[in-house]
Amino acid sequence: MTTAGNEPTGAPSRLEARPEVGKVIVSEPELQARIAELGTRITEDYAGRPPLLVGVLKGAFMFMSDLSRAIDLPAEIDFMAVSSYGSATRTSGVVRIVKDLDVDLLDRDVLVVEDIVDSGLTLSYLQRYLLARRPASLEVCALLVKEGQQRTTLDLRYVGFHIPAEFVVGYGLDVDERLRNIKAIHAYAGPAS
Ligand code: 5GP
Repeated sequence: MTTAGNEPTGAPSRLEARPEVGKVIVSEPELQARIAELGTRITEDYAGRPPLLVGVLKGAFMFMSDLSRAIDLPAEIDFMAVSSYGSATRTSGVVRIVKDLDVDLLDRDVLVVEDIVDSGLTLSYLQRYLLARRPASLEVCALLVKEGQQRTTLDLRYVGFHIPAEFVVGYGLDVDERLRNIKAIHAYAGPAS
């Protein structure tokens, strides 16, 4: 296999250079370094009781992909999809389960893998929903937490980064289903919706 022409140049890709894509908030190397650290901690904490990783679609798909490979345990992986009612950039806290889990949570050590916590209302709802299925334990690994925005008390066992309270895109996070496939986390510089 040849890699000629695919080496990183450091220049922004065409996608990153779009006017709606703002400054880098968390770079690709920062993401990868932190995810490696989280993976090591989770591997130590869950030694002897491999977790069931529950990803929240769609935003967490890329984080789940990298985090799961940083965990050196026979973890299981499942996904659920939720949609929050509210405007495009602000959640209302009322959550609809669009896709439920395929596996039983009873007596499992469940680790929820979440992309971003803003008000915390989505996660708070999800925790109550999952706890009702009587797992042995339920913890959360959130890649991003927006500073000063939480409207509920949350126990977040693992956090990747605390970021300023602005709307971000990339690394799984979208605006109107676009820009998820940017490699880093960027501020959204497009028109306010
Ligand atoms: P919360 O319920 O904590 O206010 O919002 C959580 C959900 O809102 C996240 O899972 C994500 O889907 C969406 N969200 C919150 N902040 C952002 C953001 O800055 N960018 C994007 N793309 N989605 C966000």
